[in-house]
Amino acid sequence: MKNTTPELDSITAQADTLLKELFPICRSITGDGTRTTLRKLCEVTDFHLFEIPSGTACYDWIIPDEWNVRDAFVADSNGQRVIDFKQSNIHLVNYSIPFEGRLKFGELVPHLFTLPDLPTAIPYRTTYYHRDWGFCLTHEKFQKMDRTETYHVVVDTTLEPGNLVYGEAILPGTSGQEYLFTTYVCHPSLANDNLSGVVLWTLLLREMRRRPHRHSYRFVIAPETIGALAYISRNEAAVKALAGGFVVTTVGGPGRIGYKPTWQGDSLIDRVVRLTLRELCLESVEYPFDASGSDERQYSTPGLRIPMGSICKDKYYEYAYYHTSLDDLDFVRAEAVIETLNVHLSAIEKLEQDRTYRSLNPIGEPMLGKRGLYPRMGGALRQKAAGSQGASELDAIRWILFHADGQTSLLDIAEKTHLPVKVLADAAEKLAASDLLVEV
Ligand code: ZN
Repeated sequence: MKNTTPELDSITAQADTLLKELFPICRSITGDGTRTTLRKLCEVTDFHLFEIPSGTACYDWIIPDEWNVRDAFVADSNGQRVIDFKQSNIHLVNYSIPFEGRLKFGELVPHLFTLPDLPTAIPYRTTYYHRDWGFCLTHEKFQKMDRTETYHVVVDTTLEPGNLVYGEAILPGTSGQEYLFTTYVCHPSLANDNLSGVVLWTLLLREMRRRPHRHSYRFVIAPETIGALAYISRNEAAVKALAGGFVVTTVGGPGRIGYKPTWQGDSLIDRVVRLTLRELCLESVEYPFDASGSDERQYSTPGLRIPMGSICKDKYYEYAYYHTSLDDLDFVRAEAVIETLNVHLSAIEKLEQDRTYRSLNPIGEPMLGKRGLYPRMGGALRQKAAGSQGASELDAIRWILFHADGQTSLLDIAEKTHLPVKVLADAAEKLAASDLLVEV
């Protein structure tokens, strides 16, 4: 039987609506499709939008001209569209320059892209920084094209000075620690990579606004690579001060939850995610850190070195439909996005619950009974039948008092003892209220 609540049903329905509404839009690293997407997301939960003009330098890169598409097709001599942007926006190589002409099949072929190994899929290709044009189509359709035809090619695009758009929200906290959640919004009609990430990011921001939190959270949504560079170049000091973060990407596939660790491999982010997956008893897969990937490529460079992890569900590169038309809304489901959203929320809870305490009674055990912290009847301790709830709280109390040296955190204790972080955090609060501990 399915485990649902009205709240879960409602957020799943919202994720489903967003996926369906945003999937058809033609997005890119610039252009009206990305702008429209960001504006629609702002209606779900408000965040600031920033526009950076074409030509602006961002470290070694320059914001390119803005790209927009009116129409694009390849038609046969009867005017029949053989490849049509209006049927699928990934038919057109993203960032194709304007072109119009009549080409023999042999002249057209260098501009056509297919996947012989996945013959029913249209591949997704881009040409952001090399001025060219092209079309993508299924290998099946390519094989059926008339080799004797002269084709009419129309790429009715504009590539003109404009702006790159990104969004940002900051949820201030009191702890002095700030964490980043960033996602990229530049892929056209592709569901897992990365509309799923865009939807999760938005619902996570809205959920975090509703929850009390002591850390600060910075939410960034930008085109991949150039958008991250634009963001960092305008917020370098704030980025350098980040304690860590997550690249939210590919979170809605049918496969297992996956984790790509930070470049350090044992940062607080990694430890929190591993504890989360262990506590949720999720069958998951951990990938090795890889220098190719998403925007951790920018945030973790030598001058920044921010530990950035990614909790995925069918991680980019790892599924057969990656960067093809088969990465669609049959592959990605709202329920999967919400499952991964909940893993993110659970990891955030652990970041929030992690504290370090020093014992105020450091020599000898304090007497718990006189403070109401010990079961009234002795002897039942460690007997499984005695009730696991009480036993695990007493276990938590004992372990916390044992480790309360002012250096060992609750996360350290959870790793050593396999006790849930929440049980430890609740027990530590009781001990602090009884003046046995003080937070350092
Ligand atoms: Zn991608």
